[in-house]
Amino acid sequence: MNRTASTRVVCCLDGLDPAYLAAAETPEWDRIAATGTTGECRGAVPSLTNVNNVGIVAGTHPGEHGITGNTYFDREAGEQVYMEEPSFLRCETRFERYADRGEAVAAVVAKEKLERFVGRGCAITASAQSPLDWLVDAVGEPPGIYSGQASRWVLDAALHLLDSCDPDVLYVSTTDVIPHKHEPGSLEANAWVGALDEGLGSLAARDITLCATADHGMNRKTRCVDLDRVLAAEGLSGEVIALIRDRHTYHHQNLGGAAYVYLGTLTDASATIGDAEGTGADTGDVAAVADRLEGIPGVDLALSAAAAAERFALLPDRIGDLLVLGDRETVFGSLEDCGTGNDRAADTYGNVDLRSHGSHHERTVPYVSNREIDLAYNAAAFAALDEGE
Ligand SMILES: [Zn+2]
Repeated sequence: MNRTASTRVVCCLDGLDPAYLAAAETPEWDRIAATGTTGECRGAVPSLTNVNNVGIVAGTHPGEHGITGNTYFDREAGEQVYMEEPSFLRCETRFERYADRGEAVAAVVAKEKLERFVGRGCAITASAQSPLDWLVDAVGEPPGIYSGQASRWVLDAALHLLDSCDPDVLYVSTTDVIPHKHEPGSLEANAWVGALDEGLGSLAARDITLCATADHGMNRKTRCVDLDRVLAAEGLSGEVIALIRDRHTYHHQNLGGAAYVYLGTLTDASATIGDAEGTGADTGDVAAVADRLEGIPGVDLALSAAAAAERFALLPDRIGDLLVLGDRETVFGSLEDCGTGNDRAADTYGNVDLRSHGSHHERTVPYVSNREIDLAYNAAAFAALDEGE
């Protein structure tokens, strides 16, 4: 094993929008920056947790690693599938390459679903949801995954793992329950940022090469657009996949700023979208639908799969016919589910008040390192540290 270099540690601080940092005191972050660098970089779009965590451990964009959202639509089976199995990964991760060359890789994450994704190539993995006994003995029982303290437990566990196992590479990923629920500068948000800051400070006090960044930002959302009803109003049929949809609905109620649309057959005889089997639409028609969707209030961008794949480095065969991205204030979801009171079938949008992510408006994230690095994308965090070794 390579024991001459210090351990490379990347922390993904889930949902740490730059606005949270700006509104809080972060003495440790500032101390780390003083010996290295701080700045902002870009995350992947859709700006979701798994998409970006996998991006960091794979060291590449979704077009290569294949995780394009939390949910995937299996067109043949006609059903939505949670994209939470490591088998959805389309490439080798950096961790597997580190392991191949004899390095010991460890990961401590908040959620179990992420543990399986990042676990490839790891000698040790732990999550706050299913913690290892010896970590619990050392740092205590993890608080509930939906509590504000879960992120701090992850950082404490990471510190203990660093001290007791001396891995060559350590990945740490926290949870975004607080930024989903509290605005920047609030008491709760500042307590969360303060806890992250202390945890980072403890890690940085060790002989490590550190980079902390985030998976995505977070914005207040005041409008919910029901894309199923929009399609119906436009005379189109199709499957709308809310990309944030996962098993952790407490955080976000499945309302996020990005959706993939799988066009089906037409319900309106005046237009010609889709083929007879409902297995896809042709290029010219999709472009026409994209134009129409971009005219809907709250929709910022509607891109054909080819255009979306090119612009955001996505995998064309996992993103349906269209990628639809909301404006800064808009989420996509079912009006019945989000309780706007807009229950008439003709209603296509309603008012909400929540905090969420998923669109290109939440792709800017902060980073800090105790080395002088220039990070353009969060997915390059490990590469940036490797270069410094
Ligand atoms: Zn997240």
